[in-house]
Amino acid sequence: MLCLSCNRVRPALSRDDYTAERARLITLHGLCVCKPPPRPGDTRRS
Ligand SMILES: [Zn+2]
Repeated sequence: MLCLSCNRVRPALSRDDYTAERARLITLHGLCVCKPPPRPGDTRRS
């Protein structure tokens, strides 16, 4: 769940990502503020 660019915790994508461990990592590393990288091929739904 860490950003590969800044090694900080990436923003949660869903409520399931808001875990206690994740919250702890944010306090340790901070929250990623990078722009989301383009993900080609990730737009397909089915
Ligand atoms: Zn980042």
